[in-house]
Amino acid sequence: MFESLTDKLSQALRNLRGVGKLSEENMAEALKEVRAALLGADVHFKVAREFVERVQQQCVGREVLKGVSPGQQIVKIINDELVRLLGEGATELSAARPLRVLMVGLHGSGKTTSSAKLAKLLKKRGYRPMVVACDIYRPAAIDQLEILAKAEEVAFYADRNSKDVPAIGAAALEAAREATCDAIIFDTAGRLQIDETLIDEVKKLRARVQPDEVFLVADGALGQEAVNVAKAFNDALQLTGLILTKLDGDARGGAALSIKSITGVPIKFVGTGEKTENFEIFYPDRLASRILGMGDVVSLVERAQENIDQKEAEKMAEKLRKADFNLEDFLGQMRQIKKMGSMESIMGMLPGMNGVKLDGDAEKQMARTEAIILSMTPQERRKPELLNGSRRLRIANGAGVKIIEVNQLMKQFQQMQKMMKMLKGGGGRKMMRQMQA
Ligand code: GDP
Repeated sequence: MFESLTDKLSQALRNLRGVGKLSEENMAEALKEVRAALLGADVHFKVAREFVERVQQQCVGREVLKGVSPGQQIVKIINDELVRLLGEGATELSAARPLRVLMVGLHGSGKTTSSAKLAKLLKKRGYRPMVVACDIYRPAAIDQLEILAKAEEVAFYADRNSKDVPAIGAAALEAAREATCDAIIFDTAGRLQIDETLIDEVKKLRARVQPDEVFLVADGALGQEAVNVAKAFNDALQLTGLILTKLDGDARGGAALSIKSITGVPIKFVGTGEKTENFEIFYPDRLASRILGMGDVVSLVERAQENIDQKEAEKMAEKLRKADFNLEDFLGQMRQIKKMGSMESIMGMLPGMNGVKLDGDAEKQMARTEAIILSMTPQERRKPELLNGSRRLRIANGAGVKIIEVNQLMKQFQQMQKMMKMLKGGGGRKMMRQMQA
């Protein structure tokens, strides 16, 4: 998502991080680049201007110019401003149950697809969703929703003979009650552009079904045009949230970055592809750090939680406490890390590492370490102190590495053990004292 913007912004910030001391001059230069990057991503010019002004004010206010690590502080300020811009602290969905959601938008914005996507997400959360076709003008749209509902195994309601949209809405609510559905999503008719008939129809439907959420589905690939559409819809209908679609592909990000600030309506979800699983809750803070190339530490942690065996981790923690960590455990730990994905994809989520190419070095290093440990006998792995010179030579030959690499690994390992012993012995306090000394 938003690759070009990410590239340009991280470039501007990399230049700043590199300088030892910040001056008005190099800061102005970097902020000019930031502004150009935003405009290049089709961010509304007013939004871009205000953004840079706010960052500038805060830099001055916090006396960053005299700071210890000025580059980092600016990155932080820009990150916080981006989060603010993307819409901080929005709750994604009303907690009402039954939950009624009205989906509005122009033709082709992705309304029908997003209705099915939202139903799928709610189903995962334990709701029993029903999607309701309220497009009385295009029978094909009704069919499309029906097909999607079948595929996702959620309830579907339509009345192909009726032209009375509010009545269809009311009948759907009744049907939902009978079927004990507790999340009802109304997919309304679209238009090529906003007109009064469309707005009138939606208003009447809204009065009848009393929705908890009115979501506008807008095509994010349209850039500023999407912002204009959102503004017009919000003026007429007082939206509660936005679903920005088509942020996959080459969407530049302008709509996502300007829309909250221009319309005041928060983005709740984003569509990132045609399939029903290509739908994400919109997290401003995560997107901000991704855009800044600061990595997505939250996602990294989540991924780790998903992939690392909890029991194994607890066993490991216990061993660490007792300081009887040996090379076998070391191997096990390395394999856990490997399960999280390729080193490159993990690095991509770490601050400052986005886009860093590893040339497979880290992975190679890991493979070599693994080979060395595997060339040891189980006894050696459990009692590393057995490893004298001749044993090390045998291991190096077995693993196809130089003896110096075996020595390096052992040194690393011994340091680790020493630290653990310290933590176990006089507790962490002794170590802290040493570190402070
Ligand atoms: P509607 O007229 O507003 O109901 O729009 P549709 O739901 O029929 O979507 C219009 C087209 O956009 C379809 O071809 C969808 O597959 C496609 N589409 C919808 N959402 C996304 C998205 O997030 N990414 C991409 N790439 N295509 C999407």
